Amino acid sequence: MIYMDNAATTKTAPEVVEAMLPYFTENYGNASTIYSLGSASKKAINESRRTIADILGAKPEEIYFTAGGSEADNWALKATAEAYRGKGKHIITSRIEHHAILHTCKYLEKQGFEVTYLDVDQDGLVKLEELKAAIRPDTILISIMFANNEIGTIEPIAEIGAIAKEHDILFHTDAVQAFGQIPINVDELHIDMLSASGHKFNGPKGTGFLYIRTGVKIASFIHGGAQERNRRAGTENVPGIVGLGAAAARAAKTMNERMEKETKVRDHLIGRIEAEIPYCRLNGHRTKRLPGNVNFSFLFIEGESMLIMLDMKGICGSSGSACTSGSLDPSHVLLAIGLKHEEAHGSLRLSLSEENTIEEADTVVEELKKIVARLRDMSPLYEDFVKKGK
Ligand SMILES: *Cc1c(COP(=O)(O)O)cnc(C)c1O
Repeated sequence: MIYMDNAATTKTAPEVVEAMLPYFTENYGNASTIYSLGSASKKAINESRRTIADILGAKPEEIYFTAGGSEADNWALKATAEAYRGKGKHIITSRIEHHAILHTCKYLEKQGFEVTYLDVDQDGLVKLEELKAAIRPDTILISIMFANNEIGTIEPIAEIGAIAKEHDILFHTDAVQAFGQIPINVDELHIDMLSASGHKFNGPKGTGFLYIRTGVKIASFIHGGAQERNRRAGTENVPGIVGLGAAAARAAKTMNERMEKETKVRDHLIGRIEAEIPYCRLNGHRTKRLPGNVNFSFLFIEGESMLIMLDMKGICGSSGSACTSGSLDPSHVLLAIGLKHEEAHGSLRLSLSEENTIEEADTVVEELKKIVARLRDMSPLYEDFVKKGK
């Protein structure tokens, strides 16, 4: 099998599983108790918190564990809206956010908030002039993703952070695709809140965190016990938090090496596909791009058919994002960068890990060439196009 769908989820690293196991078996204590079995859990949780804080240049007490990226995104937006509604009811985000942000914004609109959805350019970059123009006296929050999950474009986060700071507006970033993959420092980038998810960087599913800068007033999202400094109730998922910390430590330690390896395979794939498959288009920015992201549209092709045929060859990729497959709507991200519906339908995302090799990339290109040719042979649109061309 060739697995190239790491933007959907990653394999839990063996050392992460190893680190978690004792917290299912011998160290099962509730971290809120006072006997030593419980203190062992508390200590492990605090170690994970410190590891993650150090990676971000944050303080441990600014890291709040959640049950994943979607929860962190929901919390950041809903609780900020509630806490700052006295100051204003305007939120700025982009058209290419993950649904965890976009659907939360839709919900907030129903609650009386106003949301501006910024356009992006043809590479998927937020336009800074448009951001500045969208700011109003009642803007309370800017939420822009660090890197896009479909097309891999890395947003100008430092510039956005500076603009937010200059206008005294809170800045949240959904860094689920970026944390553990590329360097992030919350102070240098003026980030007030940041969401991340364990299963996107070789940690366990159902784990994540929200970084909340000291001084940001946001209320509890899950009400109940006093866990997570009274801000996120519920008995801690100790094995999950330990796994999240172990995955973060691993990601930080191996980041440079992984970035270099993935970028090589990525650029090899992009180069060969562009050179050898006609009528394709690279989606996303060519260089301001996640090391592991490849996204192409192939004209006259249905993305789903391509995926099924790749799967028959043991190759896992994605068309649009996993969350939208099953629906017939084309990806909102691809439409936002200006693709026509038929171009958006014919898209393929290959997202790499450090385990993918140049040889695997070559196999994928060879199979893809055959698949694209076969599907085009069956396409009446392609036939018309070829006839007209002649
Ligand atoms: C995967 C993803 C999420 C959701 O994270 P979960 O942990 O799966 O809830 C949010 N935002 C982005 C950009 C993602 O890629």
